[in-house]
Amino acid sequence: MSSYESMGKQELLQLKKELDAKFEAFKAKGLKLDMSRGKPGADQLDLSMKMMDVLDSTANLKCAEGVDCRNYGILDGISEAKQLLGDMIEVPPENIIIYGNSSLNIMYDTVSRSVTHGVMGSTPWCKLDKVKFLCPVPGYDRHFAITEYFGIEMIPVPMTSVGPDMDMVEQLVTEDDAIKGIWCVPKYSNPQGITYSDDTVRRFARLKPVAKDFRIYWDNAYGVHHLYEDDQDVLIEILAECERAGNPDLVFKFCSTSKISFPGSGVAAIAASAANLEFIKKQMAIQTIGYDKLNQLRHVRYYKNLDGMKAHMKLHADILRPKFEAVLDTLDKELSSCDIGSWIRPKGGYFISFEALEGCAKAIIAKCKEAGVVMTPAGATYPYGNDPYDSNIRIAPSFPTPDELATATELFVLCVKLVSIDKILA
Ligand code: PLP
Repeated sequence: MSSYESMGKQELLQLKKELDAKFEAFKAKGLKLDMSRGKPGADQLDLSMKMMDVLDSTANLKCAEGVDCRNYGILDGISEAKQLLGDMIEVPPENIIIYGNSSLNIMYDTVSRSVTHGVMGSTPWCKLDKVKFLCPVPGYDRHFAITEYFGIEMIPVPMTSVGPDMDMVEQLVTEDDAIKGIWCVPKYSNPQGITYSDDTVRRFARLKPVAKDFRIYWDNAYGVHHLYEDDQDVLIEILAECERAGNPDLVFKFCSTSKISFPGSGVAAIAASAANLEFIKKQMAIQTIGYDKLNQLRHVRYYKNLDGMKAHMKLHADILRPKFEAVLDTLDKELSSCDIGSWIRPKGGYFISFEALEGCAKAIIAKCKEAGVVMTPAGATYPYGNDPYDSNIRIAPSFPTPDELATATELFVLCVKLVSIDKILA
């Protein structure tokens, strides 16, 4: 197959006719498939079902501190859960607070607290005329939803193959004290699957923001979510790097076991400097008497330690890898010579990001929907849902079965081809 741009009008019209016929055949199948959200499949959830058995009615429910986990007590997490999640995200347990079931909830709380009460003694953001956040794009829609909800102005920063454009980040934070944060998914990013390079992380740790209440919102959602045992991305640990750079308070690091155990029923945590944690705990002590210690205990008793968790993640990878490869191999086979889109082969995480020809993403997604395949809405990966190029499409291969995925991807490439021909002919 040759590049569509190099094909003559008649040739493209002929091709379109053939593709249209295939599309009609797809429509006739009455498909109902969903590639829109990064949810684990049921077989992945089954992997953790034995966790339900570790705390039966005869179990010893005292944690390492000797506290009965059935009762009130321990605000910031049982010590064995701090150890397990600390090992998972490579920070000492004393730098961790264990929360409830969702890291997104912690991120929301962190922004909300800054709006009402400031950051370690700074002016609450609600008393400032303007508060801004940097948003690497494409990025995670729910991050952008939080900052939009609080009326925080979002400034898109383009992603490169090694992380956000750091020249731009450095320049903006040193000249504008209204910029209070940046959303980052530093490993196997949502949606591109990019891991920030050593240089990117070192530059982050050495930022010199004019706003003293500026923080890096480091969402390490996919830290142990590799697809390949022998080919994994490595990320420099940001807390230690900030410490080395003389900037210990610069970062909030978030994580959870949502895509290790059960989304919505996992354990989430924040890691930060002692000074940051002390400030956070003042609010936490008002907000709750303590989070779900039984769930913390259940996770620790089940995974035991980081090795146990890593072994478990291999089982997830065995399920996810063929799904990712099915999508990527189809993209390679069907589209690589057409010059009508580009994509990255991630080594982990939950997403594949597709860049269509400019102005085509909405039409491609609408066409997929017409034939029964739901994709993440176009624009979702940009602040305010506005992709100025109308080109980024997030593909989430985890939830459909392999057969469904093969069908959905076949339809997807068909829609990409049809919409791209219309664009080229227009
Ligand atoms: N952060 C990122 C980057 C995600 O992709 C997701 C879920 O897709 C979350 C956070 C949600 O995490 P949690 O379930 O811990 O709230």
